[in-house]
Amino acid sequence: MGVPSMTNVERCGVTGCDRAIAAVLDGESLCRAHFISHCYAQLERYDEMQKAHRLSIPDAESVRRFINQSSRQADEIEHTTKDLDNLERARLLHIILWANEVGSYLRRSPRKVASIPVRLSCDKLGSAWEEETQTVLLSRHGASLRCGHSAKPGEPIQLVRLDTGQRVLGQVAWQRSAESGGIRIGVEFMDCDNFWGLDWGVVEETR
Ligand SMILES: [Zn+2]
Repeated sequence: MGVPSMTNVERCGVTGCDRAIAAVLDGESLCRAHFISHCYAQLERYDEMQKAHRLSIPDAESVRRFINQSSRQADEIEHTTKDLDNLERARLLHIILWANEVGSYLRRSPRKVASIPVRLSCDKLGSAWEEETQTVLLSRHGASLRCGHSAKPGEPIQLVRLDTGQRVLGQVAWQRSAESGGIRIGVEFMDCDNFWGLDWGVVEETR
């Protein structure tokens, strides 16, 4: 364990390291070299999780926090440090690019193009409607669909698959006019994990 320093300069929190702090990651004070090696180790871990499809929504918050912290501080060190060598500079820039790439995995959830016949019904008081239509895109937790009715975000909607008879409750996530005419709506399912019964790991790979 490090002996408390007598000087005013704060020291790296890694045991046995006596260099000055350059950054703080997840509450840990790190010198420049340890910041770089921690970022590399963590980004490699996220990369492997993503490739194995284990980078999921519960992880997303901590991954996002890490990405923000690491890229912001890498940028700051890169801009404010006078004695950086070329290798350190290259590594800091690599961290920024890599963190950005990991962030884009999180933003991009898989979609599958598929026309599945469904019946939509909306029980809005006073203006209930029902229509048979088709999906345009499927996602793990919802779908976008052609729709002849105007639907507002937040409105509850029931969807029944006409091919299997399965039903699910959801709500309207968005609505827009389609380029081909008519209305497109996005529906998010309430508590159904894999309504479409697809292997999303495979969907993701073949996108
Ligand atoms: Zn250190």
